[in-house]
Amino acid sequence: GNLICNLMPDKLEAGDWRGQADKVNLAEESLLNKMIRHALVTNRNQVEVLQADPTSPLYSVKTFEDLRLTPELLKGVYNMGFNRPSKIQECALPMMLAQPPQNLIAQAQSGTGKTAAFSLAMLSHVNPANKWTQCLCISPTYELALQIGQVIEQMGKFCPDVKVEYAIRGNRLLRGVKLQAHIVIGTPGTVLDWCVKYKFIDPKKITLFVLDEADVMIATQGHQDQSLRIYRQLTKDCQMLLFSATFEDSVWRFAERVVPDPNIIKLKREEETVDNIKQFYVDCKNKEDKFMALCDLYGCLTIAQAMIFCHTRKMASWLSEQLSKEGHQVAMLSGLMTVEQRAAVIERFRNGKEKVLVTTNVCSRGIDVEQVSLVVNFDLPVDFSGNADNETYLHRIGRTGRFGKQGFAVSMVDSIHGMDIINQIESHFNRKIRKLDTRNLEEME
Ligand code: ADP
Repeated sequence: GNLICNLMPDKLEAGDWRGQADKVNLAEESLLNKMIRHALVTNRNQVEVLQADPTSPLYSVKTFEDLRLTPELLKGVYNMGFNRPSKIQECALPMMLAQPPQNLIAQAQSGTGKTAAFSLAMLSHVNPANKWTQCLCISPTYELALQIGQVIEQMGKFCPDVKVEYAIRGNRLLRGVKLQAHIVIGTPGTVLDWCVKYKFIDPKKITLFVLDEADVMIATQGHQDQSLRIYRQLTKDCQMLLFSATFEDSVWRFAERVVPDPNIIKLKREEETVDNIKQFYVDCKNKEDKFMALCDLYGCLTIAQAMIFCHTRKMASWLSEQLSKEGHQVAMLSGLMTVEQRAAVIERFRNGKEKVLVTTNVCSRGIDVEQVSLVVNFDLPVDFSGNADNETYLHRIGRTGRFGKQGFAVSMVDSIHGMDIINQIESHFNRKIRKLDTRNLEEME
C-alpha cells in the first residue's frame, strides 16, 4: 500500500502544537524503524515471564508447527521468510493462542517480533464464517496502522476468506452498514467513532483486542482517553493484548487499566558498552580545523562506513557541503525530511551507496544502523546545561563495535570546555579516550 507520510495526530487542538511536536516524533521514530528494518534485532538477553496464574504450566514453542495453525496460515508465516519463532514469540504465541484466552502485556524493543506475533494471533483467532468484526487493533498513527495492516495482509495471503479493514481518517463507510471485515486496525479516534458514533462495529462482538505501541499511544494527546473509552465498550471476556517498546511507570499504569489479569513478558534491551570501541579525540582550533582533521581521517572513512554527528542542522549542512566539495559521497539526514525520505537515505547508506552519513542527534535518535565502523563526533554530545551527555555519547558510538567487532570513535574538540567534556566522558565510562594526531594515523591500527 501507499504510505502517506503525514504524521500529525488525527485531531490537533490549536494550543497543543508545541507539546505535540516532540511526542509526534516518537511515532515518527517508530515508523522509521519499521520502514528500515528487514530482520529481527539481535538480543542475547533472557525473556522474563510473569504468569497471571503462576501454577499453570508455562508453554513455549520452538517451531511454528507446534502452534497447530491452519495450513494456510502456516504457509503465510513461512512465506514471509520466518523459520522459527523469535525469542518473545516463543513464549508470547502460546499464551496468545491459549484456550481459554489469556491476557498479555509484552514489552520488548522494536524489532523483536511483536507485530508479527499479534498479527499471527489475530489471523488465527478469526472465524471467517462469522461475518462481523472479531479482532480490533489500535495503533497511535495512521501510518503505523497501515504498517500493521501490511503485515497482516502478507501473513494472511493464503487465507483469502479473512478480511481486513482500516479505521483511519479518510476511510469513510456508508452510514448504517455493519462491517463484515474480521479484523479492523485503526487509530483510537476513528475506531471509537466506528464503534460508538456510527456503530459500524459492535464492540460486544470483539473477542480479541490489541493495543500496540502503548508508550507512543499515551504520549499522544487524547489517545489514552480514547483507548480507555474503547476498552470500556468491550466485554469482560474479550482477550486483551498490549505491547510497548519501553516501560515507564506511566505506561505500566495505563497497561494495568486496559489489561486485567495479565501475563507479562519482558525482554530487556541489550546493554550498549564501550568495551570493544577504541576511543580517540582530536585537538582542533575551529570548525575548519575539524573539517581538515576529518579529511585526514578520510583514509579510514573509505575503507568502511562512518556516521558523523553534528549538533545543529546548520552545521550538518555545512559539513556535508564541504565534504561534497572535496569529492566525497555523502548522505545527510535532515530534520526537514519526511520519514520516507529519511528511510531512503538510510537504505542507501546501508547498501553502501554512500560511505559517510552526516546527521544531527535529533534526526538519528532511535535508529539502528548497524555496520558502521567509525563514529565521528564532529560536535560533542552535550545536554541542555552544556555538560557531557554520556548517554547520547554511548548511544552514538554504540553503533560501532557491535557484536564483538572492533569499532572506532573519534571526537573533535575545539575548546577548553570541549576538553572538559571529554574528561567527563572518560571518567564516566572509566575508559581512556586517547589523543589522536590525524596526520599520523598509525595509532588507530
Ligand atoms: P516489532 O513489532 O517488535 O518491532 P516486528 O514484528 O516488526 O517487530 O519484527 C521485526 C522484523 O523481524 C520484521 O522485519 C519482521 O518481518 C521480522 N520478523 C518477525 N518475526 C520473525 C521471525 N519469527 N523470524 C524471522 N523474522 C521475523
